[in-house]
Amino acid sequence: MNFQRTCLKCSLKLKKNELNRFVCTSGEIVFDKNQLLSGRGYYICNNCLKLLDTVWLENRIKGIAKRSRKKEL
Ligand SMILES: [Zn+2]
Repeated sequence: MNFQRTCLKCSLKLKKNELNRFVCTSGEIVFDKNQLLSGRGYYICNNCLKLLDTVWLENRIKGIAKRSRKKEL
């Protein structure tokens, strides 16, 4: 199965294997090169990856993680 995922930065929808996956584990943003890590994945397309600001990515992912935690409560 190939679910479409949305690039976090430009909102482009692509297949999972055409995107770069990042995972947030214990507050750290990890590049999931083989897309095998567990946890919620965040996707960035190849175009955005070239210009990627890691601080922006970190803040963006942490912001989303914070919001989804609140929703669960
Ligand atoms: Zn993008």
